[in-house]
Amino acid sequence: MSAIDGLPPLRQVIAAHGLSARKALGQNFILDLNLTAKIARAAGDLNACDVLEVGPGPGGLTRGLLAEGARRVVAVEKDARCLPALAEVAAAYPGRLEVIEGDALEVDWAAEVTPPVRIVANLPYNVGTELLVRWLTPPAWPPIWSSLTLMFQREVAERIVARPGDKAYGRLAVLAAWRTEARIAMTLPPEAFVPPPKVRSAVVHVEALAEPRFPADAKMLERVVAAAFNQRRKMLRAGLKGLAPDIEDRLRAAGIEPTQRAEEVGLEQFCALARGIADG
Ligand code: SAM
Repeated sequence: MSAIDGLPPLRQVIAAHGLSARKALGQNFILDLNLTAKIARAAGDLNACDVLEVGPGPGGLTRGLLAEGARRVVAVEKDARCLPALAEVAAAYPGRLEVIEGDALEVDWAAEVTPPVRIVANLPYNVGTELLVRWLTPPAWPPIWSSLTLMFQREVAERIVARPGDKAYGRLAVLAAWRTEARIAMTLPPEAFVPPPKVRSAVVHVEALAEPRFPADAKMLERVVAAAFNQRRKMLRAGLKGLAPDIEDRLRAAGIEPTQRAEEVGLEQFCALARGIADG
């Protein structure tokens, strides 16, 4: 892609700017620009979209997003060492890349983008999970973004797309199924990254539905599923007793047997339970 954007190969960018990978920032870079272009394409048609990219690092995925036609990319990066390299990308795509230095868990980026917005990120796993849960649980729906295309450890990706009865079924699967359609778009071996992580990775693509599949208050649903799966081997009447004094009645009213375990309960019942508890 250096021929397309006129920028040097990423190994050269990293050497020129002294961007040795820092473990504390979860820095496992993708240097293959064919692969970053493929990830950008997994995000869907970018032409009429602004893209929020979290953790651009030396800019490989950023270059993929811009080359694939993103109208604008707003990129939030915590590591100030990456800013000069990203400034070079911005110069190659005049007016199309804005870089915000900061922590994606704190930066307010919404004012910087114009819908439709797609979010794309190759992030450290703990930050990615925290952001995913936030993006899935705003009080109002639809959200500002129309899709999320995010890199995770493969095991976490499987938790996001799991169905009731699957081993990986839990909090992330319920929250994702509630308001979105989520699927694994591709899997990547450790060698796709520099340095290679210990585990395989996967890109999850999440499309926001126009409305949630069942009504529920986001905060309450989050509380209910967090408590239910926190003690997934326990019967729900025990795992959820802190949520309401008459939890057994409320479970039955939601069509759930108090002796059932969280892994057997589907989305519709969890939403009914969240409504039942919220109604007091
Ligand atoms: N996007 C680049 C790529 O694909 O090669 C870099 C990916 S690397 C796995 C993760 C990037 O996220 C690093 O550049 C790191 O500095 C950045 N990062 C880590 N924590 C962050 C946070 N809380 N907010 C913003 N960026 C963060």
